[in-house]
Amino acid sequence: MNTKELLVSLSNVFGPAGFEDEVRSLIKELIEGFVDEVHEDTSGNLITIKRGTSNQKVMLDAHMDEVGLVISHIQSPFLKFQLLGGWDARLLPGQKVLIKTRSGNKISGVIGTIPPHVQTQEEMRKVFEVHDLFIDVGATSEEELLLKGITVGDPAVVFSPAELTGEDTVIGKAFDDRAGCAVLIKLLERLKNSKLPYDLYTVFATGEELGLRGAKVSAYNVDPDFSLSLEGTIAVDNPNISPYKQPSHLGKGPVITIVDRSIVVNQKVVMFFEEVAKRNSIPYQYKTPIFGSTNAGVIHLERGGVLCGVIAVPVRYIHSPLSIVKVADFEYTVDLLYNILIELPGTGFLNKKLRL
Ligand SMILES: [Zn+2]
Repeated sequence: MNTKELLVSLSNVFGPAGFEDEVRSLIKELIEGFVDEVHEDTSGNLITIKRGTSNQKVMLDAHMDEVGLVISHIQSPFLKFQLLGGWDARLLPGQKVLIKTRSGNKISGVIGTIPPHVQTQEEMRKVFEVHDLFIDVGATSEEELLLKGITVGDPAVVFSPAELTGEDTVIGKAFDDRAGCAVLIKLLERLKNSKLPYDLYTVFATGEELGLRGAKVSAYNVDPDFSLSLEGTIAVDNPNISPYKQPSHLGKGPVITIVDRSIVVNQKVVMFFEEVAKRNSIPYQYKTPIFGSTNAGVIHLERGGVLCGVIAVPVRYIHSPLSIVKVADFEYTVDLLYNILIELPGTGFLNKKLRL
C-alpha cells in the first residue's frame, strides 16, 4: 500500500479509546510478513517482534486509539453521550457520527442542534457543553431506537472520511495517532529483509487518549532497554496563536520532543536524534515546551526506568473532527526513525538499564 493510501485507510478505521479492535485487525493485515511474531496482550495492545542478533530490546510505540464518544444514556428517541478523550465539545454540534452497536453494525446519527429560527439572540451566543448535546439517529419512538440495536456503552466516532487533497496533503479524523501507526508500518516494511543487532518490539497501543493506559502494560511486558514513541502531534501554526504558543509547524519535518507534560527526554537522546537528522539531511523541529503528553510519559517510569525518546509527525487540528497531515513530514519521520534504529547500537543506550 502506498503512503497516501495507508494514511487514508488508517484514519478511516473505527477505533476510539478502548474499542480499537478494527484498527488492530487492519494493522495485523498490513504488517503481514514484516515481523517474526505477533502478540496481543490483555489490554488489547498489538505487539510485534522482529528478532535480531542479540537479546537487547528496542521498543517502538504508537497508539491505535482516537478520541471518540460513548453512549451514556438513552433518552428515547435521542441518545446522550460522554467523551472518550480530550475533545473541545464546542466542535461537536452538527457533526455526523457513527455508532457501533454490540453486533458490530454502524449506525449513522447527527449531533442535534437547534435551528436559528427558534433561537433568541442570547441563545445563539450560548456555548453548548457535553451535557447539553445529544445524538439523533432519526428515530421517532423507543421501538425504532430498539430496532437499531443501540445500547448504553456503545462507542461512536465523528464521521469524517479521509481524502487526499493536492499532491501531498491528507485530511482525516484520526492522525493522532494513526500517523504514528503508519510510520511504524512503513518502517517495518523497510526493515523487512534486514537483521538488526537487537530484538525490535513494535507496540500498537490502546487507550492512550484516556491516560496512556495500554502503554503502561506493554512497557511492563516488553521491559525494553530503549523505547521510542511515535506520535501525531500538535501543529498550531495559525495566525490566531502567538508564535511562542505553537508547539510545532506543518511542513517543517519530524518533531523532536525535549520536554512535555509527561517526560523530560534525556538530553543525550535528543542530541543523538539531532545528529542522526543532520547526518542524513533530514529536516527536523522541536516540540516547543511544555505542551501535551505521550505514552513515553508512562513508559520511562516502568519497571526500573526506561530510556525513552519521542518523535512525531506534525498534525494540524488534532482532537477535532478533521486534522491535516503533510506526506513529506510523514516520509521524513520514517527516514529519521529508520536511521536512528540503524545508528542506535553505537550510542551505548542499550547498555544503560540497571538490571540487578
Ligand atoms: Zn496521540
